[in-house]
Amino acid sequence: MALPRPAQTRVMVVANQKGGVGKTTTTVNVAAGLAQLGQRVLVIDLDPQGNASTALNIEHHRGTLGTYDLLVDGAALADVAQPCPEVERVDVVPATIDLAGAEIELVSVVARENRLNKAIQAHPLVGGAEVGEGRYDYVLVDCPPSLGLLTLNALVSAHEMLIPIQAEYYALEGLGQLIETVEMVKKHLNPSLWISTILITMYDGRTRLAAGVAEEVREHFGDQVLRTMIPRSVRVSEAPSYAQTVMTYDPGSTGAMAYLEAAREIAQRGGKA
Ligand code: ADP
Ligand code: MG
Repeated sequence: MALPRPAQTRVMVVANQKGGVGKTTTTVNVAAGLAQLGQRVLVIDLDPQGNASTALNIEHHRGTLGTYDLLVDGAALADVAQPCPEVERVDVVPATIDLAGAEIELVSVVARENRLNKAIQAHPLVGGAEVGEGRYDYVLVDCPPSLGLLTLNALVSAHEMLIPIQAEYYALEGLGQLIETVEMVKKHLNPSLWISTILITMYDGRTRLAAGVAEEVREHFGDQVLRTMIPRSVRVSEAPSYAQTVMTYDPGSTGAMAYLEAAREIAQRGGKA
């Protein structure tokens, strides 16, 4: 079952400024899928709602050490990460509602868009072979549904971007703005950023609309789109209310199997452009 580990930690940002497209669901389930495939994963919850923290069963009431302390107070990443109690090989940096203030509190801070990047790069388990066995193979960053300073920090910290696209009518709307933002970040802040992965989510194979949208996404993005599509499944949406990923809640369900397949594709494709 285990796959070879990448030569270097792959930092992937899961972003799309549209809400409800499956960013959080994708982050936690791809993380769990990669872990099942033998990879060590750090999930950073960058959304003040803390939905990824909930799904991974990490406490995130106000005042819990987490992403806010990392970004605003300069806490070390290793000091704010916790092991996920449900999934072996996954660590999590939780987000609390305090993070909602960070967009404003960071405005006057020097190099405010580089805070997350610095924290990730300073982590002793991020890097290449020199880091040793305990190295994180993947850092997955779950973004809020906006293109503000939090998402900007994520884009500056990542090599790769994973964009979940919901297979529905307005799927491609707003993507232009997202891609312009990525281009801007590439040009001025992080030349190594690229959109490595597009994942079609909440796919309903019974409708012609979903098939049409999927085809349009593939025409537009070509090889960046994973072959695996995530089906719409009640089990996927139920899992967070049990503080679980669907991978542990119902591993045999279509949603869990699709996320495991998506994780395998991501691992097998490798991280280079
Ligand atoms: P985002 O993080 O982009 O806002 P979420 O991952 O929170 O999106 O997903 C939005 C809603 O859709 C959530 O209620 C989630 O449980 C549900 N959902 C996500 N993926 C699926 C799926 N494959 N099948 C059914 N419901 C899903
Ligand atoms: Mg979310």
